[in-house]
Amino acid sequence: TDRIISPEQAPGDALDRALRPQVLQDFVGQEQSKANLKVFIDAARARQEALDHVLLFGPPGLGKTTLAQIVARELGVGFRATSGPILAKAGDLAAILTNLEPRDVLFIDEIHRMNPAVEEILYPAMEDHVLDLIIGEGPSARSVRIDLAPFTLVGATTRAGMLATPLRDRFGIPLRLEFYSPEELTRVVMGTARKMGAAITEDGALEIASRSRGTPRIAGRLLRRVRDFATAEGAPAIDRLAAARALARLEIDEVGLDSNDRRFLKALIENYGGGPVGMDTLAAAIAEARDAVEDVIEPYLLQQGFIQRTPRGRMACAKAYAHLGLAEPPKVPQ
Ligand code: ADP
Repeated sequence: TDRIISPEQAPGDALDRALRPQVLQDFVGQEQSKANLKVFIDAARARQEALDHVLLFGPPGLGKTTLAQIVARELGVGFRATSGPILAKAGDLAAILTNLEPRDVLFIDEIHRMNPAVEEILYPAMEDHVLDLIIGEGPSARSVRIDLAPFTLVGATTRAGMLATPLRDRFGIPLRLEFYSPEELTRVVMGTARKMGAAITEDGALEIASRSRGTPRIAGRLLRRVRDFATAEGAPAIDRLAAARALARLEIDEVGLDSNDRRFLKALIENYGGGPVGMDTLAAAIAEARDAVEDVIEPYLLQQGFIQRTPRGRMACAKAYAHLGLAEPPKVPQ
């Protein structure tokens, strides 16, 4: 998508690979997940064993891929990355699995989008480090069993709920990543700016951080755009005002909502009386794919209390009316 605020990866983000934190200590926030992970990593390393399988879940852009790379580095093992939709056939996964060195980390992004035929060979691989393959077809088909090196699967998903239970149950270490606080994102922005060689004040970083929807990927992207505006203005450093001016030009409001978020809230309130209304209807009203709305737009609006989820559909909260400057309908007495 072309949303600057989209937490999905965009081509320009490739640049920031070099800026990624490399060790657990430099990974900002997610304190509880980090603390637990450190214990398990230290234990696995002390015993020279493969770390138990890790499932990372949470909205896009919160650091799942980064954390998976850090896990491999902290374990001192190799890192292989693939994704659910890329693994079309069982053979694709088999080829990767048979090439792993002992204790390597295999990262599968979007693991909830894996083909069931691929998922099936993953189960025995995760559990017993074996591959059961069918060779040939028809009456001459036979099954062969191949031993694999013990490995760690790190799976990432935006929707833990979409994972088949048998798959979810095979992860010994499930970790939920949370949205970051503005203070944490300020640290992310300051750190990234330093690595980029961009001058920024603490206030300037906080201004960007508070409009980044709790998401490091968005913070990084906004920093790059704000820096462009500051350069164009000839500003010596990104301070609060320079950041605020640039963010206004990018149509990102004080709470970090962009035009799509506002369109979503407006549709909910103006077309459907504030709900409850089903997600399919709402997504159609703003001409977006349901998946994109559920992955990208909805989680932050929910977390910030602009909307709520009810069994009958999504509803606008008082905060949404206030933010858009719209009058709340009178409450109907029960
Ligand atoms: P995900 O896999 O969850 O979509 P990524 O791991 O690709 O997210 O992270 C997106 C970007 O945000 C990367 O550029 C990464 O460097 C940065 N990032 C994510 N989490 C952190 C963090 N805790 N501290 C610093 N930078 C982070």
